[in-house]
Amino acid sequence: MSSGAPKWVAALVDSVGAQGLYTYRLPPDLKVTVGDILSVPFGAQQLGAIAIQLLREPPPNLAPEDIRPVAAVISRGMFSPTYWQLLERVAAYYQTSLIQVIRTALPPGLLGRSQRRVRLLSDAIPPEAAMFLSPAAVCVLSQLQQSAQGDYTWQYLRQKCRGAYRGIQALVDRGWAESYLALPTPPRPQRRQAVTVVQVPTPEETTITKRQREVLTLLQRRGGDLWLQEALQYCRTTSATMRSLAQKGFLAIEEREVLRQPASPDLGPDQPKTLNAAQQEAFGTLQATQGFAVALLQGVTGSGKTEVYLQAIAPRLAAGTSALVLVPEIGLTPQLTDRFQQRFGDRVYVYHSGLSDGERYDAWRRMLQGEPMVVIGTRSAVFSPLPQLGIIILDEEHDSSFKQDQPMPCYHARTVAQWRAELDDCPLVLGSATPSLESWSAQQPQPLSEAAELGSEPPSAIAIPKSTLPLQHYLVLPDRVHQRPPPPITVVDMRLELQIGNRSIFSRSLRSALETMKSREEQGILFIQRRGHSSFVSCRECGHVMMCPHCDVSLSYHQTRSGTAEMLRCHYCGFGQVQPPSCPACGSKYLKHFGSGTQRVEQAIAQELPELRCLRFDSDTTRAKGAHRALLARFAQGEADVLVGTQMLTKGIDLPQVTVVGIIAADGLLYMADYRASERAFQVLTQVAGRAGRGEQPGRVILQTYNPENPVVQAVKSQNIQHFLTTEQEQRQALDYPPAGRLVLLRITSPDRAAAEQTAQEMAAQLASRLENAWSLLGPVPAPILRVARRYRWQVLLKGAIAAPIPDLTDLSKQCPAHVSLTIDVDPLNLM
Ligand code: ADP
Ligand code: ZN
Ligand code: ZN
Repeated sequence: MSSGAPKWVAALVDSVGAQGLYTYRLPPDLKVTVGDILSVPFGAQQLGAIAIQLLREPPPNLAPEDIRPVAAVISRGMFSPTYWQLLERVAAYYQTSLIQVIRTALPPGLLGRSQRRVRLLSDAIPPEAAMFLSPAAVCVLSQLQQSAQGDYTWQYLRQKCRGAYRGIQALVDRGWAESYLALPTPPRPQRRQAVTVVQVPTPEETTITKRQREVLTLLQRRGGDLWLQEALQYCRTTSATMRSLAQKGFLAIEEREVLRQPASPDLGPDQPKTLNAAQQEAFGTLQATQGFAVALLQGVTGSGKTEVYLQAIAPRLAAGTSALVLVPEIGLTPQLTDRFQQRFGDRVYVYHSGLSDGERYDAWRRMLQGEPMVVIGTRSAVFSPLPQLGIIILDEEHDSSFKQDQPMPCYHARTVAQWRAELDDCPLVLGSATPSLESWSAQQPQPLSEAAELGSEPPSAIAIPKSTLPLQHYLVLPDRVHQRPPPPITVVDMRLELQIGNRSIFSRSLRSALETMKSREEQGILFIQRRGHSSFVSCRECGHVMMCPHCDVSLSYHQTRSGTAEMLRCHYCGFGQVQPPSCPACGSKYLKHFGSGTQRVEQAIAQELPELRCLRFDSDTTRAKGAHRALLARFAQGEADVLVGTQMLTKGIDLPQVTVVGIIAADGLLYMADYRASERAFQVLTQVAGRAGRGEQPGRVILQTYNPENPVVQAVKSQNIQHFLTTEQEQRQALDYPPAGRLVLLRITSPDRAAAEQTAQEMAAQLASRLENAWSLLGPVPAPILRVARRYRWQVLLKGAIAAPIPDLTDLSKQCPAHVSLTIDVDPLNLM
């Protein structure tokens, strides 16, 4: 039964209002390959669909005679077969349905918006054609012959001819006509309002108010020409004010076309640079790489990685293949896209989740047409349907935004990119100043021994196609191109500050550095860790941190409501205790739950260093679209002396006038309740420190901590990446944590508190009885933040040996009660 040609096809019906995978029968004379665009019956309609999987057997729940046949093949070869293999692999590995993966990968309704058309191949049609044809085909033929171009939509022909589908198919089979899919026409160019200053008021001008004058001054400071929306935000004013200024003749407000690809026209083309020795070696290696390979390109910001990417892409583009460039965040890395556009012009396409539907279709149209191009995008761009891929670049590969936490598939773009490079047989380049332990250890001469068995596939496991082990290249760019030395890092022991009676959040060194900075009219950055993750408890006298006795991670602070008990809990094993009234190590009463946000720093500046003007750069102040860039522009123009910010400061900020970087308290990063805390802390602190001294003036970094001996602090101070990663790898190995082991996290959530807990308990009990020895079960435990968006969250963590097959958990979600949902996160990054 399972031999012979496939008789069924799983097709993605993809129209507005109808999306899903459905099974259809293949008529014996119709040849269908994966990726073909089909026409299928759907209720009373005929819809477009994509052939996803050819099946030798019908799905068990369907009687073969109930399965309806595919009506026709509309278009072939639009998607490459490897594209669907990639999506299938994602679905299998991340334990979710193919349709869920398709929803992540494809813009919705792609086919619904496309037009199915037929055109005559007039050279091929003999004069007596009608003699060979059925009445339906004759009708279609004569309709087409009446049209000027010999070309109509299917829909039109269906209205005109009975049995139009069979008729069209007969003409296509004889080679007298061809059927094709016209992708959606490009949406009309977007238009937006812009304001331009046309006249500057003299000091004597009496027709305008003081505030209006201020607005004009502000606009001029920004070059006198802005989008209205930006201008309103920047000047903090209303459109009524703008209109009034326009009426008085000081401003012009007009509609202008927004360029889809905001290439800066004044940026001239850019020539390849002559590579230095380290760049040359990296480039040479990539140039010599033909098929699938993974290269780790390690180098600090400014060491010339981007130049290597650009030069590695150029020959592949010239050879007719495309390049995919993945970055953590587009909005924060405008310089990067600018440089690609300067080098490759309009062959560069930017693709990210912030695009409007119209822009997404536009991008898809271009990609599916198959011309060589460079796509720069964020996480989901790893699914761009580029038919001929020549190289994939993943910049800032350590960045956790490449991982999707929810909804499923909880994929990591780096993992998917590696599969994609494998399927398309091209190199993958991973770039970073602070490589992830995963990528780094894969490059070491003796990789984690069993990692080589990644593709092993024992019978009970989910059938994931075998991965071949790629050729690995470890490429290092040791120095900044312009030889500007990295800034020195001073570590300040905050315990000593407390001892001499300084209770401020600023140490004496940081304070004096800020004062000197101000007197020289330079600027500074103050870093504080992201809000909401500051839940560990430590002693401000002796630095003691409350740790789990079983797990080697810090305990997290929990207080459900004020007035209830203050609890400390371990998120790995569920251990819990009441917070002690004093420090178990030294007896001090200053045992505090750490939490210090940007606002607190802002207040402290106002009280203690009132002459410093400050701007806050965090998720509160940058929520609005475009607010990141606007805020940074204000800082760059000298509107403030210090920028107070969170983790966002680590990305894409290049401010040459910054000479001081102060890290208010490194501790919040060091003791997050997570086995990755050290790695993440090292990355963040190194990236923040790298913001100082990018310009002419040398920089300095002051890192405040209650734990100066902490190995991470020491590693950041000495900037010894290799040593840090080696130590970290040993620790992970000792505890079987990734990359030496594997984790799978089950997140169980429900609006009903008891249901979430009970389901988690039942699931854990069931798993305990069926898991193989290589896997152990941790939990269930309530998530560190128990209630989020009105849902109670519990979790179960599975921990397994690296070589052990991942157990199939896909049946678990079917067992969940109605109001409980389950997310399976394979290789989770975020355990919170
Ligand atoms: P990274 O991507 O590692 O931050 P870049 O490629 O952006 O580094 O290089 C930093 C700066 O040095 C850029 O302005 C770039 O144009 C310049 N640059 C890079 N390589 C060279 C080179 N070989 N010769 C001269 N300038 C270079
Ligand atoms: Zn524990
Ligand atoms: Zn203490």
